[in-house]
Amino acid sequence: MSTTYNFCAGPAMLPQAVMKKAQGELLDWNGLGTSVMEISHRSKEFIALTDQAETDLRELMSIPENYHVLFMHGGGRGQFSAVVNNFLGENGKALYLVSGSWSRSAVDEAIKLTSDAQIDTLDLLVNDNGISAVSIPELAGKATDYRYLHYCPNETVDGIEIVEEINCPWPIVADMSSNIMSREIDVSKFGLIYAGAQKNIGPSGLSIVIVRDDMLKMPSLPQSSIMDYRLAVKHGSMYNTPPTFAWYLAAEVFKWLKVSGGVAAMAKTNAKKAELLYDFIDGSDFYNNTVSAQNRSLMNVIFYLENEDNNADFLAEASRAGLVALKGHRSVGGMRASIYNAMPIEGVEKLVEFMKGFADKYQ
Ligand code: PMP
Repeated sequence: MSTTYNFCAGPAMLPQAVMKKAQGELLDWNGLGTSVMEISHRSKEFIALTDQAETDLRELMSIPENYHVLFMHGGGRGQFSAVVNNFLGENGKALYLVSGSWSRSAVDEAIKLTSDAQIDTLDLLVNDNGISAVSIPELAGKATDYRYLHYCPNETVDGIEIVEEINCPWPIVADMSSNIMSREIDVSKFGLIYAGAQKNIGPSGLSIVIVRDDMLKMPSLPQSSIMDYRLAVKHGSMYNTPPTFAWYLAAEVFKWLKVSGGVAAMAKTNAKKAELLYDFIDGSDFYNNTVSAQNRSLMNVIFYLENEDNNADFLAEASRAGLVALKGHRSVGGMRASIYNAMPIEGVEKLVEFMKGFADKYQ
């Protein structure tokens, strides 16, 4: 059987070892004679699974004790509204940094649920000096009554990663849907971190929320109970029936991450994978990437063919070579190779080799 490398931005490829394990125990999990999908979320076996998942995630991300870890419904976008409804109350204001497509979508949702007056935005322009050089220090000069600052450290569509630390007087809320656990971060710098699962965690639908306990004292808006952080904390993320199979797979991904050396080991390999690809793109006059070096995403590598007439052939030939889902997001065109934790370096090597061959043939 030939190997397929799946570069989809999400739902993305999951570690093969995890998929094989899940396959092996699909019909009989934990010796129960039934699948994990078919048991009560309140059974002692499932609670043991969720306890272990939380312990493993806390260890992987060094999550301090004063943070809650929640497993919620609704993916990334679910959190766009949950953050607003949980923290803004009637009059609260928030500052949203806009660096690309997903951070803009978060703003749209926030305004829809509140009003223009409650949401301030600040465009982060990525230039050759990176982001920090111009805009981030200026944040400290803004009004001080924001309940939180929201930003998206990895713009999945635009291939932009904000590696600069954001220094500001307000709690930071970060959408880490596409770069959670791809590199080490200091969780204590954040008021809340959220991530849709379908890139570095597990199947879609699930989202992970890591929230500092003092954040939960902010006034909230009336909202759906299943997206209420306080209820989620109180009920151990089981106010209603959670997406149990996704939770199980996430737990398996955490175990896999631990035996693979944890986030530090992932970060090393991720840096190598991205370097391989960006170095090749930069050295070629057939492909290009215009994001400034400092803010190039390690997870989503965007590239364009100089001659866009070759796009369809590129995608078709790549697919025949077992390199699938390389088409860029419809809003930006071009190509995108998403190389999350589960993508082995061999996949990137094979992609570079293919890109070389394609350029030689069509140059
Ligand atoms: N934020 C980011 C950074 C994303 O990449 C995505 C999905 N690609 C979302 C939010 C939305 O996630 P979902 O589709 O799970 O709502």
